[in-house]
Amino acid sequence: MSEATNTISIEDFKAEAETFLAASAKRKPEAKAFTWGQGSDDVAVFDEKDDEAEALDIEQAKAWRRKRFDAGFGWITGPEKFGGRDLPSAYERAYNTEESKYETPGMEIFSISLGMVAPTILAHGTPEIQDQYLKDLYRGDMVACQLFSEPGAGSDLASIQTKAIRDGDEWIVTGQKVWTSAAHVSQIGEVICRTEPEAPKHRGLTAFVVDMTAPGVEIRPLRQMTGGASFNEVFFEEVRIPDSHRMGDVNGGWNVALTTLMNERASIGAGGGGGLGLLSPTRLSEMLQHFGLSDDKVIRDRIAKIHSNFTVAKWNNQRALDKIKAGGLPGPEMSTAKLALTNNMKDFTEWVADVLGPRICADTGEWGTYAWSKMLTGIPGMRVAGGTDEIMRNILAERVLGLPKDPGIDSKTPFKDLAVGTQR
Ligand SMILES: Cc1cc2nc3c(=O)[nH]c(=O)nc-3n(C[C@H](O)[C@H](O)[C@H](O)COP(=O)(O)OP(=O)(O)OC[C@H]3O[C@@H](n4cnc5c(N)ncnc54)[C@H](O)[C@@H]3O)c2cc1C
Repeated sequence: MSEATNTISIEDFKAEAETFLAASAKRKPEAKAFTWGQGSDDVAVFDEKDDEAEALDIEQAKAWRRKRFDAGFGWITGPEKFGGRDLPSAYERAYNTEESKYETPGMEIFSISLGMVAPTILAHGTPEIQDQYLKDLYRGDMVACQLFSEPGAGSDLASIQTKAIRDGDEWIVTGQKVWTSAAHVSQIGEVICRTEPEAPKHRGLTAFVVDMTAPGVEIRPLRQMTGGASFNEVFFEEVRIPDSHRMGDVNGGWNVALTTLMNERASIGAGGGGGLGLLSPTRLSEMLQHFGLSDDKVIRDRIAKIHSNFTVAKWNNQRALDKIKAGGLPGPEMSTAKLALTNNMKDFTEWVADVLGPRICADTGEWGTYAWSKMLTGIPGMRVAGGTDEIMRNILAERVLGLPKDPGIDSKTPFKDLAVGTQR
């Protein structure tokens, strides 16, 4: 990396990226037209592997992130003091475009680390934890998870009961979290705890970075209906967290949580236009021809609508992402993006299920049929993760349309006047 990296022109930056990629990864063959029955028919939403295969994937993903980071492409927009390049987001987009031409390991394992936890540490962390974790997170030496949901607190996140009690320069944490994606492969987690039981519920929470290997942390996998176990229950039994690992003010954890949630919606919704790359017109038309449905007027009408909805979502997302990249904060646009993504995916998988009929339920070995059951069973999870469809609609109703606040689960709940609503 040259010294005055932040003055580099975008053309020179692209040339630098091309040189790095050409020397470090294999270029993808020119994209061939999709051919029915050829190649992988995997369309799973959740990347499910056995322990050994998962460990290998993670090792390869970490190795690639390290290589990228050391070459100056690990945190292109990030501050130089944490190993970033301090460059505008256009440079990051340019790098991503270049990298997409090469065969590189999947980066899913870092989606929570870098999409949610790292931006929160950057916004709210003490200098000590920023120094301790940011570089390691972006270099892929470390993975972080998000410890928000509890058995009694999901949509109504502010009802969290996991307690943190101050003991000198430390906090002692006891309680249970649930649905914690990737906890089993994480070294640290962002945990929201109740620190003031008597305060109104949003005002008694505090955020911390917790060491997932600390004594008293127990992680148990949860199996989901797709067959895999991407989530966990996490139990805290008198786990000690130094006060330097607190993010934001004592009892100011709600604002910290909102930073993470807005970034979560931004990163889930960011894929909202593309239909996970499955809406290739060639792929869909070959599917219809294969099953003799090309002339079915209802099937054709439905896919035309789905295609239009995906296209509108893609443009809206682009607009919202450009606002964020220009320095704006993620706002209700991200709830729209998330809602659009999950609704479009629901409509699309229902359409596929109608095209395939019973073939989607029976594993006969026929290419491009039963494989879709993984997507059909995975999409409901996306409609729940990061705020359910119903909660996204509440946010849109209140913050975009200006309708009166939702009465909430408990009509006596105080703080109906909070700027971002009372829900996750
Ligand atoms: C794929 C996936 C990954 C996840 N990863 C994580 C993670 O890494 N970390 C983490 O902390 N959590 C994670 N979660 C948990 C997720 O955030 C919660 O499941 C979600 O917030 C909903 O909470 P809940 O499951 O408790 O459902 P509840 O809040 O109990 O909701 C149950 C139902 O009631 C509806 N509902 C609730 N309140 C209202 C209302 N006011 N108006 C209308 N309808 C309402 C909901 O829409 C839903 O249909 C994950 C979940 C999934 C599916």
